[in-house]
Amino acid sequence: MRMRDRSRIIGDQSAKEPRLHPGVPHPVTGPFKQPIGLFINNEFVEGVKKQKFDVINPSTEEVICQVCEGTEEDVDLAVKAARAAFNGGWRETTPNERGRLLLKLADIAEANLDLLAAVESLDNGKSITNAKGDVGAVVGTIRYYGGWADKIHGKTIDVSPEMLNYTRQEPIGVCGQIIPWNFPLLMFAWKIGPALATGNTVVMKTAEQTPSLLSSSPSSSRRPASPGVLNIVSGFGKTAGAAVSSHMDIDKVAFTGSTPVGRTIMKAAADSNLKKVTLELGGKSPNIIFDDADIEHAIEWVNFGILYNHGQCCCAGTRIFVQETIYDKFLAAFKERANRTTVGDPFDEGVFQGPQVSQLQFDRIMGYIESGKSEGATVETGGERLGNKGYFIKPTIFSNVTPDMKIMKEEIFGPVCAIAKFKDAEDVVHLANDTNYGLAAAVHTKNITTAIKVSNAIKAGTVWVNCYNVLSYQVPFGGFKESGIGRELGEAALANYTESKSVTVHLGKPFPH
Ligand code: ADP
Repeated sequence: MRMRDRSRIIGDQSAKEPRLHPGVPHPVTGPFKQPIGLFINNEFVEGVKKQKFDVINPSTEEVICQVCEGTEEDVDLAVKAARAAFNGGWRETTPNERGRLLLKLADIAEANLDLLAAVESLDNGKSITNAKGDVGAVVGTIRYYGGWADKIHGKTIDVSPEMLNYTRQEPIGVCGQIIPWNFPLLMFAWKIGPALATGNTVVMKTAEQTPSLLSSSPSSSRRPASPGVLNIVSGFGKTAGAAVSSHMDIDKVAFTGSTPVGRTIMKAAADSNLKKVTLELGGKSPNIIFDDADIEHAIEWVNFGILYNHGQCCCAGTRIFVQETIYDKFLAAFKERANRTTVGDPFDEGVFQGPQVSQLQFDRIMGYIESGKSEGATVETGGERLGNKGYFIKPTIFSNVTPDMKIMKEEIFGPVCAIAKFKDAEDVVHLANDTNYGLAAAVHTKNITTAIKVSNAIKAGTVWVNCYNVLSYQVPFGGFKESGIGRELGEAALANYTESKSVTVHLGKPFPH
């Protein structure tokens, strides 16, 4: 599972210094060797077609480095390696050994936290503080699943005195995993943790916007273990991604990303070998503030709910519903809070919000802002880009919105929210559930009965009370409705990666006793 020193991998094309903020000590000791390779069967390789693509720094719009582009042929090689590993050594490792290897991986990530966070920030544009938080969560998640590896049990079921029935939780086989760019390393951890702990092998397709971290690694002199158990292919969705979802020898595909792509993946799975599918998709999550809430506290969480990770969270609290009795006061205070958000270079200390990840995302978000304006919503603050270089967008609040506006229905995936009034609990439950999505929601109130009754009535996989975006690797996460299928994290994720087998043994009549 360990990746090799990247300097040993790749051809000897001209090296470029990665660009970090001038004031930040450089965490990468040497220049990037170009291009950075795919990781197949424990080797960094160039890819069959020897194609490569640019990685762009979203803060400067400049090229950071080039990464090898995996295509269908590379996915196929990765699947062959993963199949050989599944049928060979990996299946025969003891659960305890699998756990030990995951714990070792967590230790390596922890020892290299600053380096990993810096590359993540550079690639994705997230603030260095958030990136460090992500890597901390990566370490926790991998460790958590390392702990599960030797605690996966079946059951015995008493069906008759003449029969013994027991169940086994067996690995599914070769798992394709397709991850997005908003939390590149964290999504990697969420996916490989339960898959490897339960004895599967993996072919991971990273997002084309953020491939650097998972194509390279800090150097280590230790020998690689278990070739083919974990393979990582960087490349594009329509080519490498599609090759994963339609591959005849991949037994399961797990995807995190947009709902339209989730649909495509499910169709491809159905049209190929009916591989198992789990999906973690989009959201349009409601954030509800009752008039008895601690308003100052609620504003902090509402602001965090929409602006954390620059709004690039599937669970972002984009539809804010405020009880009419406090609406004006709340809106004024929220505007003031949003305007205090520090937006800028992610490597600058104190910056909370960096650039959006790419030109495409930037254009999509600006398109939604234009649509909000043209459909008659009021821009309370923001509504435009910040500066003229890098994909920075000012925190944006729309008011005077109606449920049929695009900005109230579609996932924007940026620092843009809409705020509306509600009358009472019944009214807001109706408004909150008026969406095709069902990923997350929040309720702010001091009344325990209101909190619980509203939480129970909302159709979403996660409900936060008096907080937002609080995720823990022990707690299941996933969506109702068009927000997904299956649950990640916690014990629940193990079910995504195991097949239950029941064995019935005929014993005959019991001995008289
Ligand atoms: P976004 O629109 O935010 O970039 P996507 O859902 O398009 O999110 O992408 C998430 C992941 O899905 C990425 O790794 C991307 O390459 C991959 N992907 C995109 N299109 C497809 C597809 N048709 N088949 C398989 N994977 C895809």
